[in-house]
Amino acid sequence: MIRTLQERGVHQGIDVFMECTVVGLLKDGDRVGGAIAYWRETGRFVIFRAKAVVLATGGYGKAWKVTSNSWEYTGDGHALAYEAGAELIDMEFFQFHPTGMIWPPGVMGILITEAVRGEGGVLTNSKGERFMWKYLPDNKRKEFAETPEESQKWVDMVVAGKQTDARRPPELSTRDNVARAIYTEVKEGRGTPHGGVWLDISFQDSDRVKKKLPSMYHQFKDLADVDITKQPMEVGPTAHYAMGGIRADPDSGASTVPGLFAAGECTGGMHGANRLGGNSLSDLVVFGRRAGMGAADFAKQNAQWPSVNEDEIQNHVHRAIAPFERSGEDPYAVHSALQDVMGKYVGIFRNERDLEEGLRQLLSVRQRIENTHVEGSVLFNPGWHLARDLENLAVCAEATCRAALLRKESRGAHSRTDFPKEDAKLAKVNMSVKKSQEGMAVSATPCPQMPDELRKLFE
Ligand SMILES: Cc1cc2nc3c(=O)[nH]c(=O)nc-3n(C[C@H](O)[C@H](O)[C@H](O)COP(=O)(O)OP(=O)(O)OC[C@H]3O[C@@H](n4cnc5c(N)ncnc54)[C@H](O)[C@@H]3O)c2cc1C
Repeated sequence: MIRTLQERGVHQGIDVFMECTVVGLLKDGDRVGGAIAYWRETGRFVIFRAKAVVLATGGYGKAWKVTSNSWEYTGDGHALAYEAGAELIDMEFFQFHPTGMIWPPGVMGILITEAVRGEGGVLTNSKGERFMWKYLPDNKRKEFAETPEESQKWVDMVVAGKQTDARRPPELSTRDNVARAIYTEVKEGRGTPHGGVWLDISFQDSDRVKKKLPSMYHQFKDLADVDITKQPMEVGPTAHYAMGGIRADPDSGASTVPGLFAAGECTGGMHGANRLGGNSLSDLVVFGRRAGMGAADFAKQNAQWPSVNEDEIQNHVHRAIAPFERSGEDPYAVHSALQDVMGKYVGIFRNERDLEEGLRQLLSVRQRIENTHVEGSVLFNPGWHLARDLENLAVCAEATCRAALLRKESRGAHSRTDFPKEDAKLAKVNMSVKKSQEGMAVSATPCPQMPDELRKLFE
């Protein structure tokens, strides 16, 4: 998708700035009027003047150690928007995908597609028990097969493209539920040697496995020396997708700051408390287009170029190069500390005591981030880049923790052991995060009303 879009864009005369990282949004009064960035290769700064800016920077899974996300997922857009005065919503909802690789350590977190379970993959614990039946929510139990035979019949019929009265296997419960089940099995001492559970598809026809899951076959063969047609995979939950992000108008992508628009995973509200598999890419296509059109309309209606403030630019430059000038810790060590806090206190299961402790530790990690020191020069220097990324991750981590504290219920991907049920009143609010003079402010704001034309679709 990225390549096709980029080729199409280049063909239409759009300039693409590869390897160029935005470190700040420029403001003209209340309005966003551009961005300041640096070239990753040379470290040189570049100013973009713009009548409107669209953020599409993805998620922030790098706040956790075990994650399916790449190094770029550091919540830059979330933090840039927050710093510019925009509202973030739903930050407490972060999805953990149930199946990531857990061994060897170098590949920990890499995603194992849901298709493995769709093709009949079975989850078992160290005692060989197929545990997912235990974890099906009572109100959904009837939708799932009751026996291994019924599960297998469903797989065989679906593979053959035939209709069936068999129900789907329990392994195909929602992501949040399967992730919690695996976590619980491991915590209660029924985990595999490396702290996961087994995902086994080796009992299915091996040619079909290789044909239907070629990337999984090669991923395990090349990275873990495991032949999935003969052996089970060792799997565990991995931080995967941010449901929370910039509050954006669904029709135009407009944020709460004039001139600033957003689309994709850096926005909040689109997927509620729990995104369904596959829905991110369709979200991007629809709401990316709307944000582009919204920004273009805004630029036409506000045709005067915003002015550029030299002091603001200098502040951004000083902030960016500060890690060379101060004495402090190595950014990699501080990143690891932040991830440890998020994994321990703001993970799959949460409670008030852990979240309070997590917040306390995050605030002290934040001070360490403000002091990180890097060696070398601005010429392609990943340590320097990470020092700036950490500031963004710190905003996202703190916002997640504060919003999770405020949502005293369990809903979708947000599981509070001290409030294990949904609270109907909280279904009607978004937790909203904003920068204030006193620091980060979190409050419950009413969910927008569904427009009548959409409501009709549900009647
Ligand atoms: C392993 C994996 C598998 C997935 N599989 C599926 C799937 O099958 N179906 C599905 O629907 N979803 C899937 N998802 C989710 C989906 O891929 C993402 O939600 C989606 O790609 C997000 O798109 P985006 O355009 O918002 O951000 P991204 O695709 O993450 O793009 C963000 C871009 O912004 C750039 N950027 C970030 N910060 C800055 C900055 N400061 N300055 C300049 N540029 C910056 C990044 O370099 C990147 O190019 C998967 C996710 C992962 C991690």
